[in-house]
Amino acid sequence: MSVIIDDTCITCDACLQNCPVNAIVDDSDNPTGENRYYVNPEKCVECVDHFEDPQCAAICPTIGCISWDMPFTKEFDAHFLNAEVYKLGTKEGVVKSPAFKEKKYRTDIPLELRGVGKEVQVEPEELNEVG
Ligand code: SF4
Ligand code: SF4
Repeated sequence: MSVIIDDTCITCDACLQNCPVNAIVDDSDNPTGENRYYVNPEKCVECVDHFEDPQCAAICPTIGCISWDMPFTKEFDAHFLNAEVYKLGTKEGVVKSPAFKEKKYRTDIPLELRGVGKEVQVEPEELNEVG
């Protein structure tokens, strides 16, 4: 991954429509069985080469629902092999973990902001009251 959807998802369908690489599945197809949408980490490219920012988060009405996960690179192979969180697809019996194939990720997002619930979409600053 890249980005991860948490349990505040209201299953509105907006992100699924917006993903340029069809990485998102709806709640009925969520391989973890949870009642929320799910990003297939082996497909998500953090919108690199498609858009300036992750389009799922840009359209999500639930601020904070989508956060940064670790880059889908070999360095984090064990992270994505955690079957309690991810259900990776397979190809001819081989699990499509980062060791199988790495994905692009946003190099401008530092590692310390990843995997700690750092939301992709930032809440607008409250307007200062005038007067
Ligand atoms: S960050 Fe981009 S590629 Fe990844 S799930 Fe969201 S819309 Fe799809
Ligand atoms: S846009 Fe946000 S709230 Fe709507 S389905 Fe996607 S993650 Fe859930």
